[in-house]
Amino acid sequence: MSSIIVAATQNKGKIREIEAITSQFGMNIVPRDEAGIPDIDIVEDGETFEENSYKKASEIMKLCGKPTIADDSGLMIDFLDGAPGVYSARFAGPECDDAANNAKMVELLKDVPYEKRTARYVAVITMIFPDGDTLVARGEIEGHIMLEPEGSNGFGYDPYFRPVGYDHTFGVIDPEIKNRISHRANALVKLKELLTEKGYEVNS
Ligand code: IMP
Repeated sequence: MSSIIVAATQNKGKIREIEAITSQFGMNIVPRDEAGIPDIDIVEDGETFEENSYKKASEIMKLCGKPTIADDSGLMIDFLDGAPGVYSARFAGPECDDAANNAKMVELLKDVPYEKRTARYVAVITMIFPDGDTLVARGEIEGHIMLEPEGSNGFGYDPYFRPVGYDHTFGVIDPEIKNRISHRANALVKLKELLTEKGYEVNS
């Protein structure tokens, strides 16, 4: 396998976590901005994490000609029938930020009891090689949504997401632990297994 894998994301939180997790496998991930990819917008108009993840990986792979991974991820809240789901990054509108998304989520859940505030993070990682070979790995983690923020670790919805089995949110939990148990970690571990099964050399 080429020694460089391009990551088709500009989200700094995702980049930090993908680098931390994959460096343990010896993978050499280069974010798209550092790989000289033009700053084009990829329209995420798919209805599933799989569709958007594939679209991001294939468009960036066509531009760089190198093996590329893309992460499409989000939060699925049971009481909201799986919303915000693929719309997690723009839940409160096209130009919104994490604070606006979190405020909208809390407003929608404010009268819902804790035991009904169940949710899961989902990440779908797609890896595409220049010859078209494509690997897809999905990871999830179950949790509850809190109504008050706790801590400032992580990004996005993390100060409100308390994983099952823990007394704190990802805003407080050590990033090293998040990177062992998260949806993204689960998906990347599966990707590594798929690469090994297919005979790719994982270490760069
Ligand atoms: P994407 O770029 O469409 O994949 O957007 C993913 C969005 O889902 C992020 O902007 C966050 O709002 C949310 N998200 C995904 N993974 C995480 C996570 O690990 N922590 C917090 N929020 C996340």
